[in-house]
Amino acid sequence: MSNSIVVIGSSNIDFIMKMDHLPARDETVTDAVFMQTFGGKGANQAVAAGRAGGKVIFVNCVGDDPYVERMLAGFRESGINTDYIIRETGVSSGTALVMIGEGGHNYLSVAPGANARLTPERVEAVRDLIAQAAYVLMQFEIPAESITRALDIAAEVGTPVVWNYAPALPFDITQLKKVSIVVANEPEAAALTGVPVTDLASAQTAAHRLRELGAQTAIITLGESGSVVATDDDVLHIPAFPVEAVDTTAAGDTYCGCLVVALAEGKSLVEAVRFASAGGALCVQRMGAQPSIPWRKEIEAFLEKHNPVAQD
Ligand code: ADP
Repeated sequence: MSNSIVVIGSSNIDFIMKMDHLPARDETVTDAVFMQTFGGKGANQAVAAGRAGGKVIFVNCVGDDPYVERMLAGFRESGINTDYIIRETGVSSGTALVMIGEGGHNYLSVAPGANARLTPERVEAVRDLIAQAAYVLMQFEIPAESITRALDIAAEVGTPVVWNYAPALPFDITQLKKVSIVVANEPEAAALTGVPVTDLASAQTAAHRLRELGAQTAIITLGESGSVVATDDDVLHIPAFPVEAVDTTAAGDTYCGCLVVALAEGKSLVEAVRFASAGGALCVQRMGAQPSIPWRKEIEAFLEKHNPVAQD
C-alpha cells in the first residue's frame, strides 16, 4: 500500500456577486462586486490535502470551458496529481452562481456540468489506483451510483474510505457499513440519522447512531464548537481552536483534506482530528474557498502555538 490519497469528487467554477441586498424576483441590482474563484467540494478537499502535504491524486471530470486551464494549474500548484482528471467536450465544468447579500445570506445555484460525467464506469477505471491508495476521500457532489461503486471497490480491495456526507442529499444509508470514517456537520448528521443536532449531547447521540448504521468511525463537526468523534472505544469531544472567524467557507473541506493527510501519515485519530481542526481554524480566518486553504507550514506553526486538550 502506498501513502497516496485518492480524492474522487467534484470541481466547480464559482461566479460570485456580492451586494448590499439580494434582488427580489425580476429586480436588477446594479452595484454588485464580482469575483470568479474555484470551488467544488472534491476540488477544495483535494487542494486542502495537497497543501497539507499529502500525495494526492484527484479523480474528477472537467469540461471544455475557458476556465479549465487555470483551474488545473491551481490544482498542480497545490501539489495535486491531475493525470486522472478527465476533460469532457461539449459540456461546461461544474459551475456555481452565488449571490451574497445582507448578513451573508445568499442565493446559490449549481450546474453539475462535467461532474455528472464522473460515472460508475469511470470510477471502475481507477480500481487499481484505489487498491494502491492509503485512503480514498469522497464527498457527495458526484452521482450517488459513483459513490456506491467507489465504496464497493474500496471494500473489495481493502482501502479505507473517508466520506464527507456533503451536501446532504438523499442517500441509501445501508452503504455506511462500507465507510471507515464518515464526516458530517450538524445539518448533514441530522439528515443522515434523523437526530436533530443542536448541541454536544445531540451530536454524541447522532455520532453513536452513525456507528450503529455501520460506519466504523463517525465525526461530527460543530464549527467553533469543534468535533465529536465516535469510535469502537469512545466518544470524544475535540474542541476547536479559538480564532477570530471572518469567513467559514471551505472550513469543512479543509478539515476533511487535512484529516486524511494526517491519517495517511499514520497519526492517531485524535492527532489527525487536531491537525484537521488546525486546518479549519486557519481557513476561517481568511476569505474565500480555495484561497483560504492553508499550507502545511502554516498548520505546523499553528499547532506549535496552540495545544488544546481532548475532553471526554
Ligand atoms: P462545515 O464547513 O462543513 O459546516 P464546520 O463549520 O463544522 O464544517 O467546520 C469544520 C471544522 O473547522 C470544525 O470542526 C472546526 O475544527 C473548524 N472550524 C470551523 N469554524 C471554526 C471557527 N469559527 N473557529 C475555529 N475553528 C473552526
